[in-house]
Amino acid sequence: MTAASAPGRAELELKALLDAAVDAVIVIDHRGCIDTFNRSAERLFGWRATDVVGKNVAVLMPEPYRAEHDGYMGNYMRSRHARIIGIGREVVAQRRDGTVFPASLAVGEIKGSNPQRFVGFIHDITSRKAAVDALRRERDRAQSYLDLAEVMLLALDVDGRIALINRKGCEILGYNEAELLGRDWFELCLPERTRDHSRAGLVDVMAGTRDPLSHIEDTVVTRDGQSKLIAWRTSLLRDERGQVVGTLSSGEDVTERRDAEQRLRKSEALLRAAQEIAGLGNYEVRSPGGSTWSDQMYRIVGCDPAEGPVEPPEFVARVVHPDDAEHVNREWQRAITETGKLDLEYRIVRPDGTVRDVHAIAQVGTDADGETVVVTGTLHDITDRKRAEEEMRQSQEKLTHVARLSTMGEMATGLAHEINQPLTAIATYAQAASRLVNSAAGADPDDLRDALTQITNQALRAGEVIKRLRGFVKNRSMHTETLDLNHLVEDLRVLAEPDARVNDVRLTLDLAPSVPPVSADPVQIQQVLLNLVRNAIDATNEREGAVREVVVGTRVRPDAVEVYVMDRGAGISPKIVDNLYNPFFTTKAAGTGLGLAISRSIVRAHLGRLGHRDTPGGGTTFWFTLPPLRTA
Ligand code: ADP
Repeated sequence: MTAASAPGRAELELKALLDAAVDAVIVIDHRGCIDTFNRSAERLFGWRATDVVGKNVAVLMPEPYRAEHDGYMGNYMRSRHARIIGIGREVVAQRRDGTVFPASLAVGEIKGSNPQRFVGFIHDITSRKAAVDALRRERDRAQSYLDLAEVMLLALDVDGRIALINRKGCEILGYNEAELLGRDWFELCLPERTRDHSRAGLVDVMAGTRDPLSHIEDTVVTRDGQSKLIAWRTSLLRDERGQVVGTLSSGEDVTERRDAEQRLRKSEALLRAAQEIAGLGNYEVRSPGGSTWSDQMYRIVGCDPAEGPVEPPEFVARVVHPDDAEHVNREWQRAITETGKLDLEYRIVRPDGTVRDVHAIAQVGTDADGETVVVTGTLHDITDRKRAEEEMRQSQEKLTHVARLSTMGEMATGLAHEINQPLTAIATYAQAASRLVNSAAGADPDDLRDALTQITNQALRAGEVIKRLRGFVKNRSMHTETLDLNHLVEDLRVLAEPDARVNDVRLTLDLAPSVPPVSADPVQIQQVLLNLVRNAIDATNEREGAVREVVVGTRVRPDAVEVYVMDRGAGISPKIVDNLYNPFFTTKAAGTGLGLAISRSIVRAHLGRLGHRDTPGGGTTFWFTLPPLRTA
C-alpha cells in the first residue's frame, strides 16, 4: 500500500464514524449509483457494501418506487427542484431477501463534490409505526366503546368546556360533535335558570367539596329547544401528576322514564280514587306466596293496612259473616279446583261489628311457571246499593198497595152492591122464617129448612166476596207461585163483575182451551187485570152508544201467554198515546194516573210486557204477556 493510496486520517475517521452510526448511511452519486454503504446499512438491507457499491440505489427500493427513482434523480439534476432533499420523509425500503419495511429517510446534498453526491440517512421505523398503529387502534376502539354506550358520555375541562362527547350525547342534544367540542357546556346546553347552580356544582366537584359520584338529575336543553331530564354520574379526570383536569360524566336520558313514572303514579292515584268512590277493592292471592291487597280492600274489610292482607282461610273465619262462611268456603274451593271462576255475594263483618254486603268476582289461573296458583279478584262493597234497592222495592210495594186500594175504591159501588144483595136476601129469608115460626099453623119444617139453606148460601156468597176483597187489599210482599192464567181470570170475575154490572157492562170471558203455567204473584197479576177492566169500563162509559161489553181473554203466543182486555169504548187519541204509561198521567177527573204505570212495572218485574192496540171497529185492547214456566 503506497502513501498516496493509503487512506488519509480524515477518511479513516469518517469511515469509523459511519460504521459506528446507528442509522444506515448511504452516499450516492448524480446517477444514483451507490458510493458508500455503512455497517448499519449492511445490517438493515442484508447487502454487503461490496455487493452494492456501484449499483443503482433503486436496488434498495421495491416496485413501483424502483422504476420511478431514475426519473426522479434526472428531474432533480435538471431542475434542481427537490421533493425530498432537506425534508425527509417516510419511505418503503426493500432488503436483499425481498422483504420490505417502512423507513424514515433524510437526504442531504454534499455540496462542492464533483460529480454531485447525496447522502441518505435511513432509519427502520417498523416498531414505531406498529406502536402508532396500535395507539390509533386503541383510540378507535375506545371511541367505538364510547359511541356504543347507551348513555351520554361527557368530559368537561376545568373551565366547563366540552372536551369529549360520544355519539349518544350528540344524539340526545341534537348537535354534531364539532358543534359541541370546545363550547361552554353550561352556556350551550343548560337552561338559564339552573346554569349558575350547575356550574357551581362542577366547581365544588373539582375542588373536592362535593362527592363527584353522587347522583344528580338535571334538565338539559337540546338544539331545538326541548327540555330533557338527564340522570348524571360524574367522576374526576386527573393528569399523570394527579392534578384535576376535568370531569367525566355519564348521563342517562330519563325524560321518558320519569314521564312514564309520573303517568303511572297519576293513573294509580286515579285508580285508587276510582276504587274508593266505587267501593271496589282488588286483590291477588298467590299459592304459594300469599296475598296482595289494594288500599280499598283494607277499607272495605275495615282492617289496618299495616297488618297486611288477611289470607284466605283466615279471611273466611274472621271477615266473612258466620252465616255465609260455609257457602263462601265452598264456592272458593270450587273455583280453585273446578270452575276457575268466582262470582258471589255475601256479607262481611268488620272488626267494629258493622255488617256490609259485598260482591266478589275472581278468576283463578297459574303463573308463568305453571305451578303457582294465582287468584285475581275484586271485592265490591254493595251495601249502599242493596239498601237503595231494598228501599226502592219497599216503596214500590207500598205504592202498588196504595194503587190497589185506590182501584178498590173505584170499584166500591159495585162491591157494596155485591155484598148488599146477599144481605138483603138474608134479611128477606130471615123475615120469612120468622113469619113461618110465628104462624098459627106452625112452621112447615121443609119451608123453614129451605129458608135457612138460602140464608146460609147468601151468607157464604157475601163471605166469598169479602174474602177475595181482603185477600186483594191486604198489604203483603211479592210472592210467586205457579199459576194457570185461565183460572186466575175466572177467579177475578168475582171481583170485577159487580163493578161491570153496576155500570151496565157485560163482562165476557174468552179463554184459550188451555194455557201453559206461568210463575207469578197472583194478587199482583189480578191487580193488573182489575186495572185494565176498570179502565175498559171507564172508556165504555165515555163513548156514547158504545157496545157495552168488555171481553177478558187468554191466548197462547209462541213464547208467552197473553191476557187481554178488550173494550169498544172511546179509544185512545194519538195526542196522549206517548204519555199513557207515565205515572200520574190521567184524563179522568178523579183519576190517579197510576194504574197503567204500576201495571207495566208489575208485568216487567215478571219478565213480561204490557201494551195496547186498537180494537177493530173502535175501542182499545190492552194486553200483557208472561213467559211460560219452563218445566225441566
Ligand atoms: P187513571 O185510570 O187513573 O187515569 P191509568 O194509568 O190507569 O190512570 O190510565 C191513564 C190514562 O190512560 C187514562 O186517564 C186514560 O186517558 C187512558 N186509558 C187507560 N185505559 C184506557 C182505555 N181502555 N181506553 C181509553 N183510554 C184509556
